[in-house]
Amino acid sequence: MSEVAIEFLGAAGTVTGSRFLLTCESTKVMIDCGMFQGLKELRLKNWNPLGIDPGSIDAVILTHAHLDHCGYLPKLAKDGFAGKVFLTKYTGKLAEVILRDSARIQTEDAKYAALKGFSKHNPPKALYEEDDVQKVVTRFSPTEFGVRTQVAEQTFVTFQPAGHILGAAFLEVEFFGKRILFTGDMGRDEHPLLAPPKRVPIGAVDAIITESTYGDREHAPVTTGFEDAINRTIARGGSVLMPAFAVDRTEVILVRLRELTEQGLIPPVPIYADSPMALKALDFYRDAINTASPEIREEIAKTWNGRDPFDAGDLHELRSVEESKTINNPTSPCIIISASGMGTGGRVVHHLRDMLPQAKHTIVFVGFQAMGTRGRRLVDGATEVKMHGEMVPVRASIEQIQSFSVHADADELIAWMNSASEKPKQVLVVHGEGGVAETFAERVHKELDVPSKAPQLGERIVL
Ligand SMILES: [Zn+2]
Repeated sequence: MSEVAIEFLGAAGTVTGSRFLLTCESTKVMIDCGMFQGLKELRLKNWNPLGIDPGSIDAVILTHAHLDHCGYLPKLAKDGFAGKVFLTKYTGKLAEVILRDSARIQTEDAKYAALKGFSKHNPPKALYEEDDVQKVVTRFSPTEFGVRTQVAEQTFVTFQPAGHILGAAFLEVEFFGKRILFTGDMGRDEHPLLAPPKRVPIGAVDAIITESTYGDREHAPVTTGFEDAINRTIARGGSVLMPAFAVDRTEVILVRLRELTEQGLIPPVPIYADSPMALKALDFYRDAINTASPEIREEIAKTWNGRDPFDAGDLHELRSVEESKTINNPTSPCIIISASGMGTGGRVVHHLRDMLPQAKHTIVFVGFQAMGTRGRRLVDGATEVKMHGEMVPVRASIEQIQSFSVHADADELIAWMNSASEKPKQVLVVHGEGGVAETFAERVHKELDVPSKAPQLGERIVL
């Protein structure tokens, strides 16, 4: 039998663009098919040829629906991939929404760039369009958690709950006799809605491919920073804008705001959820809660069946653009949650442009801000930011609250790997920014006493 190898086509040396290719004989299975995001040099990588013929890939397996794990799929289909995409039920539902939104944003950005003449492409073009999304969505093959499923020749996958976002799984892949675990994005035990990640399944493991987004740090304990920022802002007549990832942070924030309001720790003010994608995701969460999906914490499914855990009392769901415009430049205190989470696209861009120049407002970032994003520049203290070709002054307060992370930190990842019944033969560390993957690989080597390294982009490792 020829050798089993894994190729690192993305998320090596960076946290985005997760793409790993398992190869043996003529079988090729891709694990995640993500888009590169963040710095322009990274985004431009999306335009590079994949390095292999997409038509030669037998199947794709997705860990979860975040764009940096599924965003390249329509391009893969556009370029000839004709196999199935194996994923969980809610990953399928969320990925469809996310990919349609991605296609729309890219098409609009290309049009806008053509109008204003600031694109490097001439004429400006989108990486893919709605038609390409449609093509790939029809190949989705929803699969149950915990059920061993054949996806290609001598290739089986079992999805296990990862507690990161709805639908998110870590993967147990059997590939030509080798057993490989892919963490995808590993969640935390504390998620307010999702059941904690499953422990490492019993048995020998040839390799763990682990993320390391927070591989060089521990999450700060929960502080009062979040409610303090809200209270300070409301006291001075300002409003709070929270750029939030539509699919993972909005629901967690809404639950927290409801708890704080119920406990009297923040005043009851109108809360606006201003992201069509986040609202669709909320509906999937409500569906999962009402049907007591195994991914949902048992106590949540019991307590909130038929009631809304997201509504602090004055929740407004702004689905249309017209509704969104009614809260432009808010004159009385409110809280606006809008996507995207790093301020790079979506409705939040317009709110940032209105609110950044006014000192009474506060922008509260509640998630990881990748290098090169507008969000990162703001939390790093920029006094002005470029938006649609214009410089916008920053006078609003800028806060970053880390405690809402839906990623395991370094200790939590180590503890998860330590839950294995047998030591893995090796641990390959991906999905870390600027040296973080290397730092975490050293720690894994020291603490688990197993070979560990951070592969380079394009590297091929024989298992
Ligand atoms: Zn994720």
